[in-house]
Order: sequence, then structure tokens, then C-alpha cells
Amino acid sequence: MRYRMRSCHPHRAALTSAQIEYLVVCYDDEHRKVRLSLRQADILTALATDEKLLSQGGGVPDLQRGDVGTGDTAPVFHPEFGRFMLEATPGKPWGIGFKDLLDVERNMKWRRKIAKEHMASSEFPITLTTFPRLGAKENSIVPYYPPSGDKLRSQFLPDEIANPHIRFPTLAANIRARRGRKVEINVPVFRDEKTPWPFKDPTVDYDLRNWPEDDDVRNGAAKDNHIYMDAMAFGMGSCCLQITFQAMNIGEGRKMYDQLSPLGPILLALTAATPIYKGFLADTDVRWNQISRAVDDRTPEELGEKPLENDRWRIPKSRYASNSTYISQDARLRKEYLDPDLVIDEKLKQRLIEGGLDDRLATHFAHLFIRDPIVVFAEDLKELDLDKADHFENLQSTNWQHMRFKPPPQGSDIGWRVEFRPMEIQITDFENAAFSIFIVLITRAILSFDLNFYIPIPRTTENMETAHIRDAVNTQKFHFRKNPFPYRPVRVAGASGTSTPIPFSRPPTPVGRVEDEYEPMTINEVINGKTSADGDGFPGLVPLVESYLNSVNVDVETRCELARYLALIQKRADGSLWTAAKWIRHFVQTHPDYKKDSVVDEGVTYDLVKAVERITRNEGRDGFAEEMLGKRQ
Ligand code: GLU
Ligand code: MG
Repeated sequence: MRYRMRSCHPHRAALTSAQIEYLVVCYDDEHRKVRLSLRQADILTALATDEKLLSQGGGVPDLQRGDVGTGDTAPVFHPEFGRFMLEATPGKPWGIGFKDLLDVERNMKWRRKIAKEHMASSEFPITLTTFPRLGAKENSIVPYYPPSGDKLRSQFLPDEIANPHIRFPTLAANIRARRGRKVEINVPVFRDEKTPWPFKDPTVDYDLRNWPEDDDVRNGAAKDNHIYMDAMAFGMGSCCLQITFQAMNIGEGRKMYDQLSPLGPILLALTAATPIYKGFLADTDVRWNQISRAVDDRTPEELGEKPLENDRWRIPKSRYASNSTYISQDARLRKEYLDPDLVIDEKLKQRLIEGGLDDRLATHFAHLFIRDPIVVFAEDLKELDLDKADHFENLQSTNWQHMRFKPPPQGSDIGWRVEFRPMEIQITDFENAAFSIFIVLITRAILSFDLNFYIPIPRTTENMETAHIRDAVNTQKFHFRKNPFPYRPVRVAGASGTSTPIPFSRPPTPVGRVEDEYEPMTINEVINGKTSADGDGFPGLVPLVESYLNSVNVDVETRCELARYLALIQKRADGSLWTAAKWIRHFVQTHPDYKKDSVVDEGVTYDLVKAVERITRNEGRDGFAEEMLGKRQ
């Protein structure tokens, strides 16, 4: 199906920035080993003191510098939770021009190049979501530190795995303390021909007696047929691709937040890249739930394991989870879409309303505030500085939901921002650029055509679970709205080039049963569209983007370039190209040393990471990994 629609706001578009997280690996070629390098601080220092980089504007995170392309402003590097991680953002956000989008891939390549230039020759910045053997018994880090420090109390990882800034180990320790035990991450193991069954994670030590938490495993924390992990670093040591939009105004920001929310699980499944944990093939393909569990600070009362005595609420989700509210004042937002079980701090909501917030936004923030701030610095409590939003930012930034709505920082003219957070990092900059550009373009199509993707929030929560299933992209169905069009005549191109209104077979919104508005769709149908005899089709997100591009002036060359990126998304969705998760599984399962027992040993990991580096460098142009990247010139 190809729709030609009139765009109502062809020039409405936001400044954008994509954030990339890297793992720093370190090779020992002589012994065929690869480990994570814990030199984050040294690398960041090298980056921060590079005069040339500074003179090019690197080093200052900023989305404020106006409506310009990334140009030659050097990227900015940031620390992340893992001491083996790096994060990079463009020095300037991308402007609204289409040519700016063509700068995205170049800028990502530049970031990786700069990162690499500030590393040792044995190190490389790879973009795998997780290091395949993080926490495996033979050391997976360099330099080596023994596990079981007093912060993480992990039996697999040392405290030195976390960024040494006091905030990070304290985050981990306070999550553990609040919870009253260690975090508990059980990932179903992939059952291969020779996997011992029932599978009992052979790396778990039941005899440790260093800390009271060592009782966790004796009390059943490690589940049969699962890979067991016990520390924040197993989740927050994962890398993702996040896109931040700067909205024109608060209303536009609220709309983007709502409309991108149902796309979250679709993009999670489509970017799946996480099939291995702690040296074992997992039966899931994405990182999401593992991070969720790795920072789950809920108490037994909040979890519903004990009657409420000291805590205020039962809380159904971890603080890292899919979002639970819609916030737009869009008339199409039916109350049936909202989560009836949303937990909020009623008193706080009342104060926000008295302070001038509308009900919907007050509800959103009153929901974020059901969480405790996990780390507060004593000096920040001495005096309350009302010119600063630090306490708010602290809470906001530890509410890791799949969308984030960011108020402008105090005293700055930076606008309202919306962050799209579910995507897994991809191996190549080409893929990361493709997904970033796709999200930018679909957002523009949403704003331009006033598209409507609302489904009830609990369906998005379910979709997030579905996205975890191995090869969900090819095998699962996701709840998705059938009719995305606004309630006004939209034109479809007729054979003669004249346009006629799209014949609706049902009212667009908001009467009728909510359940009739959406149906289970495959990712292929969501992305590429589907037709059906009764006219009950779905146009597809990529065709919608194409209609948007048709509705604005894009020169042929730019259009061709954009088509290259969109083709990757289409082919991932129709299964003709593999996700990274599928490619990595295939690499392991066809490796001559793999024993069909789900174990990904050190040698296989070395070869895998080397292969990933090769893909990163050559991007399939040498014919390698064509299943994932397609034929590249
Ligand atoms: N690395 C985390 C993830 O994979 C996100 C951390 C952040 O918000 O920067 O989702
Ligand atoms: Mg980050």
C-alpha cells in the first residue's frame, strides 16, 4: 500500500541526538583471549585533555547550540556505569534538514574513530550490548580483581567492575540494601542438543560465606534452567542506542512521548542483539528484562511478597521498565488506554496540581515519585537550592523507563525533550545510523500527519515481554493499532495522480470498543504494512515514512541515501536480514569448538569478538555477515 498524504506541518521537526554506548575490549592475541578493559577513566582523561578535540568543541554535552548540523563539532564522551563502558553523543544535535540525517552515520564513525585513537593498541570500542562472558569464572576483565567486594557482594564480579565515581558503586549498594538482598537475574538458558537438563548453572558457588547475601543462592535465588546473575553490573553493563528529540514546545513533546511509546517493543525486538550471558547461550534475544532486574530495588512488601506494613504501595514494575503513563492532552487519548493499576503518590499529585500542572502531567510525575532517590549526597541536603533541579533530575534519571520526558533544565533555553530508549546497540555504525534515522523520520511522519498509535498501556507492557522471545521479530505478534490516521480526510494517490480520501472501514477514534482498535500483528506487518480483503489493513511504518518523504521536498540523492537505511529496517522486519542476536547465535552454534551444550567458551568468545570487530570495520563490504547487513557496496 502506498498512501500519499498531505502533511499538515511539513516543517515541524525537532533537533535530534543519538547516544551510543560502547564496550571497551582488550585482546590477548597470543593466548586467544579477549576481556573487558577497565580503563574507562584513563580513556576519558585522554579524551578530556586532547587539545585538538577540545578546540573542535568536544567535551561539553550540549543540545542547546541551535539549529545547526553536527558539522565538525567534535563528539562528547561520557562515563557509564560499567568501568568498561564509554558513551558518546554528537557535539551538536542534528538540525532539521534532511541532509543532516546523512551526517549521522559519518558522525557515529567519527565517534568510534576518536574513541579508538584514545585507547591502547590492544583495545577496541565494540558495540555489542553485553560482553558474552561478563562474570564467567575465568577472568573476563583486565586488570583482574577478585569478586565479592562489599558494595556489589556479587559472587561473580568485583566492585571494581563499576565506574569508580562514588555514585556508581553506591547506586549498586543502595539498590541491594533497599531490596534487602542482592538483585536476582535469571535468564532462561537456551536448550541445545547436549545441554544438561535440568540445567543447573554450574558457575554458582553455594558455599560462599563472605556476606549475609551469600545466603541468597542457598535460599533458591538461582533457578533451574536459568543463567543466574547477582549484580547491577550484569544489567547496567549493557549498551543501547538512545535517541533524544528536542520538541518545539511542550505539547509537541507530550505528543511524541505518547506516540513513540507503542513503538518501543517493536524496535526492541527489531534491534535484538543479546543472546549470550555469562558464557551461556540464552533463550532470550534482548537485554531489557535483565537490566530491569539488575536495578530492581523493590522491597518484599512492594513486590507483594509480604503484607504492606512499612512501605506505601505494591509496585508492579521495576524502576527500569516500559513506561506506564500517557501524558499528551490529545483528544484521541481515551481513558481506556491508561493503566488502571498505575501507582501514584496522591499527595504529591495534589501539590503539583496546586502548583499549576494539569492532571495528566501531574499523574506522570506523581508516578515517577513513588520511587526513592537511590543516591543522595549529604551536602545536597544541607540547603535546598530552588534554582536547581538536581533532586528532580536525580529521581528522573533513575526512573529508567522506555520513554523519558525531560523538562528544560533551569536557566537554559533548551526545549522540552523526549528520549526514545528501548533500542539495542547495533554492531555497525551503518545499522545504528539506520535505526536512528528511521526513528527520526517516523517521528516526523507522526507530527506531520498527526498519526495515532495509541493502544492501552498494558498492551505495550505485554509487547515488551513478547520482544524478549528468541527470534520474536520473525515468530511473534504484537498488539498494534490498526488505523493510525487522524479523523480527517487523508488522501491516497489515485491511478491518475489525483488524490481521493482513503476509504475508512471503521471510525478512526474514539467510539466503539477499544479492543477493536488494535490487533496482533507481526513485526513485518507493523513495519512493512499489510493488506486484507476486508480493507482492514495497516499501512506500515516504512510506507508511512515514505509518504512523509513524498510530501516534503527531498532531493533525489538524499532520498536514495535515506532509502538505503530504510531498506535495512524493512529487511530486518521481513526476516530477509538477520538481527544481531540471530547472527551471533549462528556464529556460536556453527563454531567448530562449540559442543552443543549452550556454553560459549573463551576461545569462541575471542573469535566472536574478533568477528564483530571485523564487521564493525568492514560493515559487510567484504561479504562477511551479509545475512545481517545485506549486500553492501
Ligand atoms: N545502558 C542502559 C540500557 O541499555 C541505559 C543507560 C542510560 O540510560 O544511559 O538501556
Ligand atoms: Mg547511557
